[in-house]
Amino acid sequence: MVLGYRAVCQECDYETSNPLDFRCPCDSVLELVIEEPFRREKIAHHEMGMWRYVEAYPYLRGKDLVTLGEGWTPLVKFKEGVMFKLEFLNPTGSFKDRGASSLISAIRDEVLSREGFVAEDSSGNAGASIAAYSARAGIKARIYVPASASGSKVQQIEAYGAEIVKIEGNRQKLTETAMKEEEGKFYVGHVYHPAFRDGMRTLAYEIYEQLNWSAPDHIFLPVSAGTLLLGVIKGFKHLLSSGEINEMPKIVACQSEIVSPVYHKLRGTSYSPPETTRSIADALISTNPPLLDLMIKELRSSGDAEVVTENEILNAYRELALSGFYVEPSSAVAYAAYKKWSREGRLERHDRTVVILTGHGLKSPFLPNL
Ligand SMILES: [Zn+2]
Repeated sequence: MVLGYRAVCQECDYETSNPLDFRCPCDSVLELVIEEPFRREKIAHHEMGMWRYVEAYPYLRGKDLVTLGEGWTPLVKFKEGVMFKLEFLNPTGSFKDRGASSLISAIRDEVLSREGFVAEDSSGNAGASIAAYSARAGIKARIYVPASASGSKVQQIEAYGAEIVKIEGNRQKLTETAMKEEEGKFYVGHVYHPAFRDGMRTLAYEIYEQLNWSAPDHIFLPVSAGTLLLGVIKGFKHLLSSGEINEMPKIVACQSEIVSPVYHKLRGTSYSPPETTRSIADALISTNPPLLDLMIKELRSSGDAEVVTENEILNAYRELALSGFYVEPSSAVAYAAYKKWSREGRLERHDRTVVILTGHGLKSPFLPNL
């Protein structure tokens, strides 16, 4: 039990103050409840990372935080009306560090006192992030990855000292194996755990502060499992309910045509993933995300969705790199969607738009024919 920690089920009336619970006994998603308003005057200005907002996290106040200096990433003007939020500059090279820092901070004492270890299923950015923050906390991490996984992200996970377990079979089998109960194992899968998602709200507070206490008109971000999308919406909703902003920004969930369940569900059109979901946006893999219903509910009130083709992603990737922004192709999905809206005249001349660049180019070596 942790003081100030209250997670409630989105389907039944179950609630818990145990941060080791990653989902409801009814199998539905848990969501952390924010009890207090956001207060600008409570920001810890001497902290040049996301924990300048620690006061907005009652369950972490006064605790030793597990931090590598994540957050407070640059918000850079790209051209008139468009800014990039450089989330790829976080300590492990992706936005996932925000969630890993909040989650590992919330559970560290409990895991250490029971001499346990954490388990996550991801061969990508989340796996690397959980491995890094576990290392920082002195906790053992076991990361389950598909048998075929290789490349720089897996190397990064190994470098942090995590144990890698390769599993044959599909994504669901991987998750089930990682979740399987075992002595000392604490499952911290980023897709499910509400304390991971909760760390993402700092991104909304940062954009608000960096825009001199205002919200942009649009935010374009790539969507796979939905942790970034839901966290950013939650942060801005918190600012709205606290009277800090008057209106929600429109948040646009950006996907590749190949992996686009959110786009189709929001539009009410059918989606069946192709047999091979090979896209150059290789970090966006969730064809059937567990948080889908929650995402649709939130997008109906404060967002929209867009899809882009492989060619549009490639062009956006090239344009970003040739402008000095070296991000992984999955990050280029958001910029490609922005360009589409701009081309189609869906943005007003005076609109302020933020595009979130989520992952570092060095993590997904990729050589387009430039
Ligand atoms: Zn429930």
